[in-house]
Amino acid sequence: MSKNTVDVVLVGGGIMSATLGTLIKQVQPDWSIEIFESQSEVATESTNAWNNAGTGHAALCELNYMPEAADGSLSPEKAIDINEQFQLSREWWSHLVQQGILGTPSSFINATPHMTFVRGEENVDYLRRRYEILKQEPLFSDMEFSDDPAQIAEWAPVLVDRRGKDEVFAATRSESGTDVDFGAVSHQLFDHLVANGAKLHLGHRIRKVKRVKDGTWNVHVRNRAGHGPSVVNAKFVFVGAGGGALQLLQSSKIPEIRGFGGFPISGKFLKTDNPDIVAHHRAKVYGKAAVGAPPMSVPHLDTRIVDGKESLLFGPYAGFSPNFLKKGSWWDLPGSIRLHNLGPMVKVGLTQWGLEKYLLGELMASREKQMDTLREYMPAARTEDWEMITAGQRVQVMKKDPQKGGILQFGTEVITGGEGSIAGLLGASPGASTAVHAMLGVLRSCFPEQYANEWEQVFNAQIPALVSGGLNTDADAAAASLAETGRVLGLIPEAAPAAVAAEPAQADA
Ligand SMILES: Cc1cc2nc3c(=O)[nH]c(=O)nc-3n(C[C@H](O)[C@H](O)[C@H](O)COP(=O)(O)OP(=O)(O)OC[C@H]3O[C@@H](n4cnc5c(N)ncnc54)[C@H](O)[C@@H]3O)c2cc1C
Repeated sequence: MSKNTVDVVLVGGGIMSATLGTLIKQVQPDWSIEIFESQSEVATESTNAWNNAGTGHAALCELNYMPEAADGSLSPEKAIDINEQFQLSREWWSHLVQQGILGTPSSFINATPHMTFVRGEENVDYLRRRYEILKQEPLFSDMEFSDDPAQIAEWAPVLVDRRGKDEVFAATRSESGTDVDFGAVSHQLFDHLVANGAKLHLGHRIRKVKRVKDGTWNVHVRNRAGHGPSVVNAKFVFVGAGGGALQLLQSSKIPEIRGFGGFPISGKFLKTDNPDIVAHHRAKVYGKAAVGAPPMSVPHLDTRIVDGKESLLFGPYAGFSPNFLKKGSWWDLPGSIRLHNLGPMVKVGLTQWGLEKYLLGELMASREKQMDTLREYMPAARTEDWEMITAGQRVQVMKKDPQKGGILQFGTEVITGGEGSIAGLLGASPGASTAVHAMLGVLRSCFPEQYANEWEQVFNAQIPALVSGGLNTDADAAAASLAETGRVLGLIPEAAPAAVAAEPAQADA
């Protein structure tokens, strides 16, 4: 058994580890970093372009971030919060493009209008009221609303083509929306980390993480090829193992993980590459979830841009398997049950009838029923143009709740323990889009002194929105941030991306 001591071990090769490792490299280039990924490549699970929907979640189109309260009131707070979190990603990615760490922006982010589409008088009224509140907010100022079929057909013709003449419908549209290939971001960040001294161990599965008396961690590794270290000693461990995070955090025995459980739901999408169909739609169109259905079931018809090629996705449809990872094991769900999370899990099982009904309906749905859901958004859709693909596993967080016993949580949850020497991320949404916000949060909680005394000023210079204490509160700063990141990332049609803009200058010289 060999034993090395390193400053940082990152478990998992997804967007979270890639982001955290790169943030650390920016402020502590001298720290040793080792990354362990169980698969033979990074970004093969939820972060992979075809395992998620690639929406740069900014709450421009997702109604679940601004639901109607029981009294009919609407509050923009959650939507603003999510949008502000996404702006941190946009600003940091812009900085990394300018530093040459991320490559040509179109390899990972592309302007794709975000639309919301609803049908029926009641939903149209709700969408109009939502629009009237949000358009006052600086980060949402480009939002447009229409209930005119001709205007909506101009924005997204497939929504209107062959739709019944007497149907009542409306849409909003934000041009600042994006499609993001989080797998491409991760590959580029890991390449940078490796080029700058980090060690990436592919095909190495972490079995457990154990605390040592001196406060460091022994990370137990199983190497598929049968050689290399079997225990690595680390001062700080980040468990960015996606669906594998719960069991590894449980193995660490930190008290903070007690009471947490996970419930896996598989994501599936209809996909078409038919160029005639793809050419007629350039938007991410989100609808409204069925009554009682969970937020991650919101149907959406999306342009996806992966490796420069456009496709359309529609979904998600849900499936069930007890695996916590796409390449996980059937033992994942039963193996995660402990005495401390059994109560909360049973409580969730006995109370989440809406979720259970939704899942059952999804599992029983025939191919034609699935196509009928698509036709609510694209009436002219033909079965033969679409294939069903299996995307990633979402492991929804279940946790102990003092009042209810146990609750199901649809967001992400960062767990830190061991006096800040270990952290991990559980949960799914809004996920990859807000990785920068989440990983800065990990650094703040785990390294409070270094963060306040040394790192904060570095990050503030790279991500100006961190200084404003809420970008949306300052209309000028919000407009400047959207314009500058739009310019650098090539999201504004007339602006050339930074990496490309450099070439003509050389030619002139
Ligand atoms: C269907 C679906 C749609 C989504 N849509 C969006 C979207 O539109 N926008 C958005 O922002 N987010 C979306 N998300 C969420 C987003 O994909 C995730 O939040 C994000 O990718 C999680 O990244 P991660 O690095 O934590 O995990 P992952 O990408 O899952 O990476 C974890 C890595 O850890 C490895 N690993 C696991 N266990 C071990 C172990 N024991 N040892 C070593 N390695 C291990 C895995 O192989 C994997 O590579 C979606 C997710 C799903 C499933």
